[in-house]
Amino acid sequence: MEGEVSFRIEGFKGSRGEHLLQLVVTGVLPLACQRCLKAVPYDLDVDNLLELVPEGVELSQDELEDDTRDFLPVAKELDVAEFVEDEILLSLPVAPRHEKCGLPGAADAGERINPFVALSGLKGKPN
Ligand SMILES: [Zn+2]
Repeated sequence: MEGEVSFRIEGFKGSRGEHLLQLVVTGVLPLACQRCLKAVPYDLDVDNLLELVPEGVELSQDELEDDTRDFLPVAKELDVAEFVEDEILLSLPVAPRHEKCGLPGAADAGERINPFVALSGLKGKPN
């Protein structure tokens, strides 16, 4: 099963003059079912608004505790593929499984697929 992911990144300025980045990711990724280890199609639905801050800048306690804001430290250039991949990985369920599936064998519940394999197409070359 092939995964297909598309994403959109938009940058704009917020009311405080802060640099904001909106990332929207949609698509379907095959994850490994924790019970039968077969592919489970997972609908991606990422819509994140992040506030860009220069790398190395210390955030105040207030800023860190503000749940309405997410910060993204960036160096001069943002590695878009890496950023999108990270955000996708964060959005994935820890233990994907089919709603119903048989138990053909005792699947090791601790086993996990490597989502980087599914995402390697994003980078143009495998990790
Ligand atoms: Zn299953």
